[in-house]
Amino acid sequence: PVDRLPEIQEARLRLPVLAEEQVIMEAVRENSFVVLCGETGSGKTTQVPQFLYEAGYASGSGIIGVTEPRRVAAVSMSHRVAKEMNLSTRLVSYQIRYEGNVTSDTKIKFMTDGVLLKEIQKDFLLQRYSVIIIDEAHERSVYTDILIGLLSRIVPLRNKKGLPMKLIVMSATLRVEDFTENRKLFPVPPPVIKVEARQFPVSVHFNKRTPLDDYSGEVFQKTCKIHRMLPPGGILVFLTGQAEVHTVCRRLRRAFPYRRGHVANGEGEEAPADTSEEIRRFKKAKQKKTASLPRIDLDNYSALPVDEGDEDRQAGIDDEEGSDLELDDPPEDNEEKADPSLPLYVLPLYSLLSPEQQAKVFQPPPPGTRLCVVATNVAETSLTIPGIKYVVDCGRVKKRFYDRVTGVSSFMVNWTSQASANQRAGRAGRTEPGHCYRLYSSAVFGEFSLFSEAEITRRPVEDLVLQMKDLNIDKVVNFPFPTPPSAEALVAAEQLLVSLGALEEPPRSGRVKEMEQARLSCPISPLGRAMASFPVSPRYAKMLALGKQQDCLPYVIAVVAAMTVREIFEDLDRPAANEDESSKLAQRRARLAQMRRLWAGQGASLLLGDLMVLLGAVGACEFAGCTPKFCEENGLRYKAMLEIRRLRGQLTNAVNSVCPEVGVFVDCKMAPPTESQVVCLRQIVLAGLGDHLARRVQQEELLDPKWRNGYKTPLLDEPVYIHPSSALFKTLPQFVVYQEVLETTKMYMKGVSAVEPEWVP
Ligand code: ADP
Ligand code: MG
Repeated sequence: PVDRLPEIQEARLRLPVLAEEQVIMEAVRENSFVVLCGETGSGKTTQVPQFLYEAGYASGSGIIGVTEPRRVAAVSMSHRVAKEMNLSTRLVSYQIRYEGNVTSDTKIKFMTDGVLLKEIQKDFLLQRYSVIIIDEAHERSVYTDILIGLLSRIVPLRNKKGLPMKLIVMSATLRVEDFTENRKLFPVPPPVIKVEARQFPVSVHFNKRTPLDDYSGEVFQKTCKIHRMLPPGGILVFLTGQAEVHTVCRRLRRAFPYRRGHVANGEGEEAPADTSEEIRRFKKAKQKKTASLPRIDLDNYSALPVDEGDEDRQAGIDDEEGSDLELDDPPEDNEEKADPSLPLYVLPLYSLLSPEQQAKVFQPPPPGTRLCVVATNVAETSLTIPGIKYVVDCGRVKKRFYDRVTGVSSFMVNWTSQASANQRAGRAGRTEPGHCYRLYSSAVFGEFSLFSEAEITRRPVEDLVLQMKDLNIDKVVNFPFPTPPSAEALVAAEQLLVSLGALEEPPRSGRVKEMEQARLSCPISPLGRAMASFPVSPRYAKMLALGKQQDCLPYVIAVVAAMTVREIFEDLDRPAANEDESSKLAQRRARLAQMRRLWAGQGASLLLGDLMVLLGAVGACEFAGCTPKFCEENGLRYKAMLEIRRLRGQLTNAVNSVCPEVGVFVDCKMAPPTESQVVCLRQIVLAGLGDHLARRVQQEELLDPKWRNGYKTPLLDEPVYIHPSSALFKTLPQFVVYQEVLETTKMYMKGVSAVEPEWVP
């Protein structure tokens, strides 16, 4: 029996999902698989685990597991459910990649989908669980898709063993055909239960014109206007990333300052009537709650591109920019004049914000102020903020993109989908009729894709294939993906993994057809198992796995960390605003060029090329204590260097847990590698980047002058070049490996290091 507080009980009764408790629980009893659809805010995440608990799904040996694609949801939902059930966090707990509060008494466990995938690697039948809820399935994150595929097989196995298990897939949209109509996944279509949410009408206002670059300025202006002219009600602003969120927060706070303890004169706003009850409810728990919340450890930054929500992956980059920077910033030109008579209570919201900060959005704003939450995509479906009446939507989203030619992946801000834009608009109509301001024209909206594509179709899959092979799923092609990746992507992944030695070679004999088959079902090798445990993509994992030789590990870790962080040098080639700046830039360029020569070393170490420069830069920066001053003086991006530092720590831990006997540690006074270590490092780099080998064009091949000083690669018909800023520009070794090819004025190789001709296979 659950002993809920009366006010909690009262609030629960108002959630649409509560009316469906009987229907849901009956469906779960009768079926192994159930799909539940309901608008954001209808109570799926907070209530369904409670239904299951009360129906006894956690009273035997098994517990209730809930997966979330985002860490922020796993942490905050576990706290919310514990509170609603009046149970301790020993019983209702969470686990995200590196931290959690799970105990042996835990009955309901919220976790990220990556965590559950790792658990499947340890116990394929997931015997600790009696039921798994896959939440936010509409987000179609790679891990969500894979988990659903795996569980479609695990659940029948459990049933056969007489240890029955249930799977509930929850989605905020009705678009679930990829799960329900996929016979390979579920031979018998699972029942779909729809929860009708109470949704008030939302008037959608389009912009006449669409700002193409300064949309965050437009967001700011629109928010100011709403706050000045429209009746009370919270404002929710959608932007794409942490940096933008902070900038807009700062500008809004400056325009409508709110001082703690200072109540606005005259027309102080009352909270809207509909939410006053909620406000009372929230007030009671307020302070006590926030104090006990754990902090998400920013040191646990993951380099793995397949972890949690996209914005997480640029973790930590902007965290140092807290809200208190606002005092030092010079006012910008088109800034609103500060108006303290209209205080706005501005809160940021994004995945890696500390839980204390996140929890603030659920509490009522101070009396006399209006709540304004400036959020990333995380507020689209994962979290429901009470009292929102206005939504300001920039119409964009930040996602990782992958370039098939160069193999480069990058974060890009792009238009969102119509489905997402409508989800965002819906946030305005939870408590009363609302308004959504779209900062783009209706014509532009018409051009949006209808739905966001499943993540799995948008990126290379070698890391995923390796993870699956680590689960002993050898025939990845036959895996019941809700949406399969392309056959080419799977073949390319398998080939790369075989060449890295992560998978066993396919047999060379037999018929063509059989060979084709074998080529796509290579089992994982012991090396592959070690690689699968490192949180970097397989090429870099291979380097880490080889790092033990000649005490090279600390160097390999530092180089891999530096290679996986983009743009560690400042862009000093940018156009200058005036002559003064121009001469300063020239000075700094000269300084950076000098430092690069210094970091590249001499003699043998020079042949490690650009990677030696990275290693030298990391070493020198750490030696100097990784200060903003050092970075500024030497042309390094401070934020990149911080990120490298975090990654080094993380990779060091990962390596130690695979081979504890080496006992590596992060040494901030790391001596430069010896000559023989440099040779060893070059071989390790070649082993990881072997498919990125380039050969310098010979004199006799120079039919076309464009091949002068050019390099030939297996994949490209055109020559690629060593960039003038590269440490190897003057050397032009016969063979090199490169990290990636970037096309600017020419096709330039980045991250080049020299390969001895006799090493070339
Ligand atoms: P769904 O999963 O269907 O989107 P939720 O179960 O997340 O819905 O939310 C149901 C209700 O609980 C929402 O109205 C939301 O405002 C409220 N709620 C969720 N988390 C919290 C919290 N930490 N504090 C206060 N209210 C919350
Ligand atoms: Mg939810």
